[in-house]
Amino acid sequence: MLAKTPVNETSFLDELFDRGLLIETGVDGLYGRSGLFEAIGDGFQALVSRYGAADKAEVVRFPPAMARSVFEQSGYMKSFPQLAGTVHCFCGNPADHVSLLQTIEQKGDWTEGQKASDVVLTPAACYPLYPTAAKRGDLPAEGRLYDLLSYCFRHEPSKDPARQQFFRMREYVRMGTPDQVTEFRANWLERGQKLIGDLGLPFAVDVANDPFFGRTGKMLAVNQRDQRLKFELLIPIESEENPTACLSFNYHQDHFGKTFGLTSADGEVAHTACVGFGHERVILALLKHHGTDVARWPASVRSALGL
Ligand code: AMP
Ligand code: ZN
Repeated sequence: MLAKTPVNETSFLDELFDRGLLIETGVDGLYGRSGLFEAIGDGFQALVSRYGAADKAEVVRFPPAMARSVFEQSGYMKSFPQLAGTVHCFCGNPADHVSLLQTIEQKGDWTEGQKASDVVLTPAACYPLYPTAAKRGDLPAEGRLYDLLSYCFRHEPSKDPARQQFFRMREYVRMGTPDQVTEFRANWLERGQKLIGDLGLPFAVDVANDPFFGRTGKMLAVNQRDQRLKFELLIPIESEENPTACLSFNYHQDHFGKTFGLTSADGEVAHTACVGFGHERVILALLKHHGTDVARWPASVRSALGL
């Protein structure tokens, strides 16, 4: 007979806190990371770079925020208003400041007077890229390929350590003709599985959908699945029954091309696709499956990560 899990079993999150791998901040999904956590992540990033090296992607890094104007143009608020994070600031005069301090003192809602700034938090590493790429004019005949890495924000507080509010996303983003873009995605679907295999992790690949908001969102999700526009590589982390998406393979068709005026060499609206690597999720999968003592990890895994 299988032993019953004791009700007070320490959660994976507690274990990560106890080991100092993640550091509590008092907010679910907002954590500090230890040197060891970062070293594992550096190894993972280098491994991704090795897998992608032959493609000679153009490296671009954005801060974890983007122009509010671009965010509005992207239509993010239509699809994922529940996840968005905006940056609001105090823009008042000295009298406003006095009343602000009084409100804080009285434990009132001092945030009411905050005004939206020109920046919002980046929800996915590729969002700031599209308008910048479009500004460069028509794509060359071979299209373009970018390499991105950014902290991203999503308002989804959770006790699941694999669902954080601030997390890093590495992405390769391909822009070009439908053929170029779908070939890129098919290629990374293969590579992604090989890469996760090198890390000795169990995984499954499945068709998926984004968490579109509301009733119209349900239809969008069904459509995304029917058209097989999103695949995920899933690894059990917090639960066996509901494995966690650690890599995503997205085909946007001409969505971003149309939205941001991105054109191919032939003047047609460009198609785009991206492969996203969940930095923290892969690290957590490694810690979950191989344990928190890295010295005891399989030699092949340590070697793949340069640890
Ligand atoms: P998505 O745009 O939702 O496909 O996200 C791209 C990748 O980012 C996913 O495959 C995950 O690995 C990672 N990711 C998404 N949301 C979170 C989150 N809340 N916490 C940590 N990683 C995440
Ligand atoms: Zn993307």
